Amino acid sequence: MKHILVIDDSPTIRVSVEFTIKKLGYQIRQAENGKDALEKIAEIQKAGDDIALCICDVNMPVMDGITFIREFRKTDKFTPVLVLTTESENEKVSAGREAGASGWIIKPFQPAELLKIVEKFIR
Ligand SMILES: [Mg+2]
Repeated sequence: MKHILVIDDSPTIRVSVEFTIKKLGYQIRQAENGKDALEKIAEIQKAGDDIALCICDVNMPVMDGITFIREFRKTDKFTPVLVLTTESENEKVSAGREAGASGWIIKPFQPAELLKIVEKFIR
């Protein structure tokens, strides 16, 4: 079983991302911050399953997106991490790239646009 993790502190964003990408046939898991995501990733791996992709917000309480990527990359160099960002967060792009982000999705996103970028990274 392959999982896609949707990490955002906004339930609305998590639900809309999940709704958009569920047709790809992956198991979707939601996490509300980076720490929650790392815990869910550990659970998934413990069960013998794989992470196909992470979609991650930048600004979140408890553990932000950049810190999450840094932590995740300590043990996983290859699984794509797409960062959800707003136009006004341009300075986060270079921080994200340094941390090991694979690509970017600008909020607000069109469903077709999101699907296209996700399909590109899971192939
Ligand atoms: Mg946020």
